[in-house]
Order: sequence, then structure tokens, then C-alpha cells
Amino acid sequence: MEKPLFPSKYIRITQGYNEGTHKDSYAIDNAGKDSEISDIYAPFTGIIKKIYSNDANEVWLESIDKVIYPDGTIDYMTIMFAHDNNIDNLFVGKRIKQNEVFYQEGTKGNVTGNHCHIECAKGKFTGTGWYKNNSGYWSINNGKKPEECLWIDDSITVLNSKYKFKKISTEIVDKKDDIKPVIRKNEFIFVAPKTDLYGVYLKEKQKLIIED
Ligand SMILES: [Zn+2]
Repeated sequence: MEKPLFPSKYIRITQGYNEGTHKDSYAIDNAGKDSEISDIYAPFTGIIKKIYSNDANEVWLESIDKVIYPDGTIDYMTIMFAHDNNIDNLFVGKRIKQNEVFYQEGTKGNVTGNHCHIECAKGKFTGTGWYKNNSGYWSINNGKKPEECLWIDDSITVLNSKYKFKKISTEIVDKKDDIKPVIRKNEFIFVAPKTDLYGVYLKEKQKLIIED
């Protein structure tokens, strides 16, 4: 199961959620490495469900399978991206692989300065994809905080973030026999060497996730 990655190699958040034009939403603006146009990488393997070219070239990408959220949620994820100046390469139904560059920062829509507007949502694409919120801004359905949805890894540099993103880091701590447990931050990965019964000691509130 995939872990959705922050869609830019540089995190530089210029407008957080519930601020300014993001009032009553979990939208963030990411301006990438510098004032130039940075690439946007697919956070997960997904399919384009909607494109809205009358405004800011909004694109909704829905995960093909359920993904693992940093807060432990396991569900589909949908993300809306906005402001790419040219999306001629995209169409509804197009399948995008995780980490593939598929979108760009830009200034399409009512904005100044190249950036990408990112809104994460829990679950599959629903309805028209968005709704007009109490502050009058169009906001993705079932929005969820970005730090509860997106992971970072060693390929991503945090320049400026109001939010703490959970890191995927792999460190092998034991190479006994065929068993290679891996400790990640707040995470213990053990790959069963064969089909068998295994005992796990869990502390209160710890979560056990089993996947293949
Ligand atoms: Zn925005």
C-alpha cells in the first residue's frame, strides 16, 4: 500500500489552511524551491477524475487503491491541485504513477506568484468534487489536514512549513537470518520470512497494521 508523498520536492508554504482565501478549508499554497515554476509529483498512483479549466485549471486526482495516511487512516485519497498554466497533457481518466511529474506550479486563476494550491481529501472523489464553503471559497469535499494525509521522505526538503509532516525513513536495525525488521519513525516494519504465527508485544494505544 502506498504512502502519499508531499507533491513537491521543496516545501515552502506561503498560505496555510484556514487563512485568507483558504478560510474554512484545509487548502495550502506551496511555492516550491523559488519564484520559478516547480514540478508537482503525483503523491500516489491515481486517476484524474475532474478537470476544471474555467478557473485555475483545477485537477482532482483520486488514488487507485487505498493508501496509508500518516495519522494511521487507511482509505482512498483525493487531492485537488490548482494554478498550472497549461494542462493540455491531462485528461479525465488519465492514470498517473506515484512520483511522476504530472502538474506544474503556475499563476492560472486569481493569483500572484507561481505556486500550487493543494487540497487533500479523505476517500474517493465525490459529487462535483467541491462545494462553496461558508466563506464563499470553493473547497474540496471531505477535506482533511495536509499533515494528516502527506508523508515526506529524504527526497523532500522542508524550507518553510507551518505544519509537521511525518517522515518515511528506512533504517535496518537487525539482519538476523532472513528476518529484517525496519524501524521507521514511530513505525516498526517486520516482513514475515514465511507463513507462520508471530507474537507481537503491543503497548497501550499502539496500532498494528498488517499488509502484504
Ligand atoms: Zn490557494
